[in-house]
Amino acid sequence: MGDDQSIFSMIIEGEIPCHKVYEDDLVFAFLDINPFSPGHTLVVPKESTRTLDKLSDESAEALGRVLPRISRAILRVTGAEEFNVIQNNGPNAFQSVFHVHFHIIPKMKDGRGLTFPFKSSPIDHEEAEKLATSIRELLD
Ligand code: 5GP
Repeated sequence: MGDDQSIFSMIIEGEIPCHKVYEDDLVFAFLDINPFSPGHTLVVPKESTRTLDKLSDESAEALGRVLPRISRAILRVTGAEEFNVIQNNGPNAFQSVFHVHFHIIPKMKDGRGLTFPFKSSPIDHEEAEKLATSIRELLD
């Protein structure tokens, strides 16, 4: 993996499996492997850039265009009415994968979602595939 390659580049290239929910020429979105709540999605530019401040206008525009749409689909499918969008840049700012990404995290009525201290549990792949399929269908 080169300096500008990350695990997300491998997911985008299809070298590592994921539960994909959306793809266009510039953007790729898939379910987080350690979700804070069901439907926790990562929205990623295909451009391999470490932090948001380095991202091209073209990719930024493409991300801005789809974030609300993907959020709407996630809310519809999960039944959540509230959600967080977080975006971390740098290891001290909680970034662990060095490829720009936005987290869309549904806040469920039972409290699941973003909490402090942050708490996640491993993905349920069977439930995840159903969620990803439903979100993808809404976005097609
Ligand atoms: P960060 O801490 O960088 O903002 O978030 C990185 C996110 O990527 C984490 O929530 C982590 O669970 C997720 N993640 C890391 N590796 C993988 C992977 O291989 N597949 C998926 N679907 N998510 C991943």
